[in-house]
Amino acid sequence: MRAVFFDKDIPRVLITKFAARYANWLLFTGLNAVKYRTDLPDPELPADDWVRVRNIACGVCGTESSFFKATTGVNSAFEPIPGSRRTFLGHENVGEVVEVGAAVTDLKVGDRVTIRAYMAGCDTKGITPRCRYCEAGDYNFCLNYGADPPVKLPDTGAGLADSFIYPARGLAKIYPELTNDQAVMVEPSCVSIHAALRVPPEPGDKVLVMGCGTIGLGLVQALKIVQPDCEIWVLDRIRNKLEFALRLGADHVLEGDIYEATSRATGGSSVYVGMGKNKYFFGGFDKVYDCIGGNWSNHTAVRLLRARGTLAKIGHHMNAITYDESPVWWQELNLVGIDAHGMEEWEGRRLYTFDLAQEWIRDGRYSVDGFITHRFKLDDYKEALRLALKNPPDVVKIVIDCN
Ligand SMILES: [Zn+2]
Ligand SMILES: [Zn+2]
Repeated sequence: MRAVFFDKDIPRVLITKFAARYANWLLFTGLNAVKYRTDLPDPELPADDWVRVRNIACGVCGTESSFFKATTGVNSAFEPIPGSRRTFLGHENVGEVVEVGAAVTDLKVGDRVTIRAYMAGCDTKGITPRCRYCEAGDYNFCLNYGADPPVKLPDTGAGLADSFIYPARGLAKIYPELTNDQAVMVEPSCVSIHAALRVPPEPGDKVLVMGCGTIGLGLVQALKIVQPDCEIWVLDRIRNKLEFALRLGADHVLEGDIYEATSRATGGSSVYVGMGKNKYFFGGFDKVYDCIGGNWSNHTAVRLLRARGTLAKIGHHMNAITYDESPVWWQELNLVGIDAHGMEEWEGRRLYTFDLAQEWIRDGRYSVDGFITHRFKLDDYKEALRLALKNPPDVVKIVIDCN
């Protein structure tokens, strides 16, 4: 098995953190905590409800960049959770089932699948019975996140590998109508769709999508499906991403001074300027969807909302961050956290986000055309990460061909 993984070896993790801050070139040497091994043994299926998948392709996202820079803060909620020594990377994958355990009933050899529950307890470690959250399909909230697996697991691999093993119930079947390129876009589409359903616009809402990468571009579409009667502004530094967002259904670009532009767009007050670049006004968007994450975007997003507006936190860092919270209490804002995907309620049905996303893509309601801009071979994963970290204007989704 060839696979990319994060090795929780403390000296290496410290070197990686140092390199990310002060010596970027070091990240691309053998000292990085993210390693690639081409000689890992193909593991046996550890239980009869597991399957083996031969990967076809896998997208690269912020998760991989975070591991490559070892960004998880020592003060984050993730830090105290015990994890396995190796975390196998890659979850935006499409692969073909090549072996099924005796107890697997809903998958067969030849089915195409993608990872649904990634790094989240019951459905990734094969824990039975599942906790109540996993049983309900909300695997993000698994109570067994930090629990030991029932049997000692071998090196399993994941999306950034030529093959991997997984509990069958942690995988989603890919619909036959979807191409492999559409299939690798299913997981990031789920993130956008889940966000739109968690914070759905009301009729007539004026909303802002901050950041027009893969998630923001998908969100523009999902918001218009969930509530066609909403007006969407988009914010990004890169012109061609803004144009892409407009083609996908955004109504306006937030241009010029963002405080002035927001106040004008939403019928707000004058913009007051204090010391330094401290600006504030009254009024603002009904909802802001932050697909960037971090100090600046939090600080700005809460200032662009009207009283009792809602900030949907989609982009995030696994770190304590700093921002001025005065608008949150002063203007009684709502802060809604959003993580990945799970179970949705849509038009009277309850279904996995993975099914809803695939239905929308299959039916032509939601497009992933043009999202994949760059491709690399698995052996060249470091070059893919180099490009992801550099993030030039023409990059939307980088995909690794796994064979
Ligand atoms: Zn992802
Ligand atoms: Zn669970």
